[in-house]
Amino acid sequence: MPPKAFASRADLADKLVSFTKLSDHAYAYTAEGDPNTGVIVGDDAVLVLDTQATPVMAGDVIRRIREVTDKPIKYVLLTHYHAVRVLGAAAYRPEHIIASEDTLSLIRERGEQDKASEIGRFPRLFRSVESVPPGLTWPTITFTGKMTLWLGKLEVQLLQLGRGHTKGDTVVWLPAERILFSGDLVEYDATPYAGDAYFTDWPATLDNIAALEPAKLVPGRGRALQTEAEVAAGLEGTRAFVADLFAAVKSGAAAGKDLRAVYRETIDKLRPRYGHWVIFDHCMPFDVSRAYDEATVHRDPRIWTAERDVQMWKALEG
Ligand SMILES: [Zn+2]
Repeated sequence: MPPKAFASRADLADKLVSFTKLSDHAYAYTAEGDPNTGVIVGDDAVLVLDTQATPVMAGDVIRRIREVTDKPIKYVLLTHYHAVRVLGAAAYRPEHIIASEDTLSLIRERGEQDKASEIGRFPRLFRSVESVPPGLTWPTITFTGKMTLWLGKLEVQLLQLGRGHTKGDTVVWLPAERILFSGDLVEYDATPYAGDAYFTDWPATLDNIAALEPAKLVPGRGRALQTEAEVAAGLEGTRAFVADLFAAVKSGAAAGKDLRAVYRETIDKLRPRYGHWVIFDHCMPFDVSRAYDEATVHRDPRIWTAERDVQMWKALEG
């Protein structure tokens, strides 16, 4: 077999976009496993959560919002710091960009490297990358733990329920309608990216999401989950992947095996159950690298740079 193309450079086929109405206030912009965007329409303003990767791509979200409301897009919420979620922000011209204090600290610490790394991994997801303004996307409001936003009479809760996909993960909760937007803490029919994850913490964070008893849930990738059974399946699938991957890596590391050997074993163990999920082959080298770090000596995720990405890929897939 020829070596796999780096990350998702060979993934060029466009996905079909859906704009799904979940309630009078909530919509999900989804695209067959590409990164999702959430839209909350309040009495007086619109909140967009996760922006798409470039302003040109965000333009398609705005077009769909304008099919359902002419209220101003006042707020953009970043569920976490990943470039593919934040670099489209400028298109919305929001009054405020909101993120957790932990997300802001990650943008400060590693935003530049992450931007270069993510654009290199997945060119299709950064369509019209030249439309991204120079520099980074900076939050104008930050919070720790919980923030309540009132869009007129509509209560919107921004919650940090624990670490998982990143240190700064924020979910958005509409308590009156029991609708939850999870960011990348939950995926559906899509492989969780865990290159910046906290494997030890992630399952407990999923417990905290489940404890809210969402009636509907919009994952970070994959279609909107519209029944309690679908929500449970989304949470369970994500939990199983995270737990299975970390267990496999921990046992390999404990046996003194090196990263390449652990990678081979783990991908063989997980492929039968999860190999059909989108971006499985893209995520596994990053996910196993991070899990191996966490199982050994690195409590916190190390910064990915474009150079480290390629080096790692060669070491594991070359
Ligand atoms: Zn992410």
